[in-house]
Amino acid sequence: AKADGRGTYRFFETGMDARAQARRLLEMDLRAALQRDEFEAYYQPIRDVASGRVVAFEALLRWNHPQRGLIAPIDFIPLAEETGLILQLGEFVLRSACTDAATWPDDVDLAVNLSPVQFKNPNLIASVIAALAASGLDARRLELEITESVLLQNSEATLATLHELRAMGVRISLDDFGTGYSSLSYLRSFPFDKIKIDRSFVSELATREDSMAIIRAVTGLGRSLGIVTTAEGVENDAQLELLRREGCTQAQGYLFSKPRPASDVAVMLNRPRLL
Ligand code: C2E
Ligand code: CA
Ligand code: CA
Ligand code: CA
Repeated sequence: AKADGRGTYRFFETGMDARAQARRLLEMDLRAALQRDEFEAYYQPIRDVASGRVVAFEALLRWNHPQRGLIAPIDFIPLAEETGLILQLGEFVLRSACTDAATWPDDVDLAVNLSPVQFKNPNLIASVIAALAASGLDARRLELEITESVLLQNSEATLATLHELRAMGVRISLDDFGTGYSSLSYLRSFPFDKIKIDRSFVSELATREDSMAIIRAVTGLGRSLGIVTTAEGVENDAQLELLRREGCTQAQGYLFSKPRPASDVAVMLNRPRLL
């Protein structure tokens, strides 16, 4: 506390305490929610830009909290990662999403997000195999989305896991491309099947020359490396048109649909637009 006034120190201490307490409450809540089955996978369509066809759905986790209503991942995934609860949550998403996807037309794929924490778990491969076997989903219909931070761990084990998944027929996507560090080197360290261009570049497409240039560079890179490019966060026709012109392979965003429950998948498949 040193030179700080007493009031400041006490305030600081109380603040920390309140935050730690909120954290403990949320952690207890998370554990209980897993038991009570309050989590649900929502789905957002990914469309082929040239044909407009829905080629995949991305599973996005939601928490149906009995008091607080629908909670978005940003409000619980970080703590779930810190506490290790993400392993159970990740397992839940994988299992329920594979089970849902097995009922979709078989030219519609499933994308599931993986936390870097899940890569430190030696059971990752086994839980992917178990989810595929239990659902009957063909491994070639599953894409796993990882961020650069997974490769930052840069261990032999991580690369071996990725190669093993790929040997099973599972595809690996590099999520949030352009937001991390030295992204290009990651494309050399592992042969990704897909690059997902971060929403921030798409949202500034019309207003920032540099975003346009970056999208052009990434789609060009994808073409020359034989990697599918998917633009995230497409919200309007102007953005979609620019992406089409640059030869971006796939698009995903509120323009087509927000993430919705599994029961809405049929509707999302049949209607070109739905907000
Ligand atoms: P992400 O993987 O980059 O997912 C895309 C996020 O962008 C989703 O937010 C989606 O709802 C949102 N989005 C899609 N289209 C648009 C658009 O046109 N405009 C805007 N403004 N947003 C759009 P969401 O569902 O809140 O998820 C946030 C993040 O939480 C995800 O980012 C992902 O990193 C993480 N997450 C979600 N589900 C899971 C999961 O099952 N496991 C793990 N490990 N992480 C997950
Ligand atoms: Ca994702
Ligand atoms: Ca993303
Ligand atoms: Ca993201």
